[in-house]
Amino acid sequence: MKIGVLGGGQLGRMMAIAGYPLGIEFGLYDPTEDACGGQVARLYNAPFEVTDELKKFVDEHDVFTYEFENVPLELAEYIAQRKPLYPGKDALFYSQHRLREKQLFVDLDIPVTKFSKVDDRASLLAAEQEVGIPFILKTTTLGYDGKGQYRVTSQQELVELADKLFPEEGEACQDTNYAGVNEYIAEAFVNFTRELSIISVRDTNGDCVFYSPAENDHRDGILHLSVAPAPNLSGEKLSALQAYARKLLDKLGYVGVLSIEFFETEDGLVVNEFAPRVHNSGHWSMEGSITGQFENHIRAIAGLPLGDTTNRSVSAMYNLVGHDVDRKAMSTPDVHVHWYGKDIKPKRKVGHVNILADDYAQLTQKIEQVDGLVK
Ligand code: AMP
Repeated sequence: MKIGVLGGGQLGRMMAIAGYPLGIEFGLYDPTEDACGGQVARLYNAPFEVTDELKKFVDEHDVFTYEFENVPLELAEYIAQRKPLYPGKDALFYSQHRLREKQLFVDLDIPVTKFSKVDDRASLLAAEQEVGIPFILKTTTLGYDGKGQYRVTSQQELVELADKLFPEEGEACQDTNYAGVNEYIAEAFVNFTRELSIISVRDTNGDCVFYSPAENDHRDGILHLSVAPAPNLSGEKLSALQAYARKLLDKLGYVGVLSIEFFETEDGLVVNEFAPRVHNSGHWSMEGSITGQFENHIRAIAGLPLGDTTNRSVSAMYNLVGHDVDRKAMSTPDVHVHWYGKDIKPKRKVGHVNILADDYAQLTQKIEQVDGLVK
């Protein structure tokens, strides 16, 4: 079998690395000439449009998947009409647009923060009544890692933001961060105690497996550390997270790995967003679980039996963002470096380190050792 992956970054690369031992071949499609997945699989280098190269890519592979949620819907449509595309178009349709996504959570009874649509000055000012201050204004499309977001903590800031984005009544948005962005979502600020994510997998028969939820810490809006299983997570919350994931998987007729991010608050869980793909907060599973998320994604979309998601121990994923780590880190038992073959640039994810330990206290010590060797 040959699997075609839209996107040739580190996620496509790690899918291929996990899939070759199963006897599967990979081609990656990416507009970037030196996309790092090209070091391990054939790279089809062309824009994300229906190009001749894309037609060739579709002809030469049997099953398709993607490593990012902003695959143009027309492109997904073109592929899905010809060959199996997993997790599918529906997952893209919802995850590409925060308003659709939040409404889907409401429809599925998954607890979500108050939100409202903002597309002009009046609707921005009305957010004070609709969701209350403080709130976060996010672009409905294309935002990730906190980009395209504004925090509003007072009425004065609200007016200043309105002046910045919509200086005149009825005028289109003046935001120049994103060409063509003219729609936002205002989300009531969630006073969370921590962020959690759950990675789940559904196969072509509709059977599901779940990984232990992870606790995630961000630095400068980028994931820094995931710890799994999330410490002190009640059995009740674990069941709720799995039940929410199951609802979403079934609703979307999903095949493959799905990740969902939540806030944990004193009043319970609140969903943030989902990503229809393997996820950074699931990288720990490569060694931390019997079957890692990349292998299970490939198993699911290839129609193979899903692998066991039992943990081998407690684990952490330490992201290498704009920095390398001294390979001496690997002299500590059960410390595993994953390098993506990219040039180091500020704020760029260039690798990660998976750390396994007997208990959380030992895990903390090992994380500190790794942290001290980041250069
Ligand atoms: P997102 O792009 O939606 O993943 O948001 C990036 C980060 O901003 C999240 O990981 C949170 O730390 C924070 N954030 C996003 N939405 C909210 C919210 N409604 N309330 C509080 N913090 C938020």
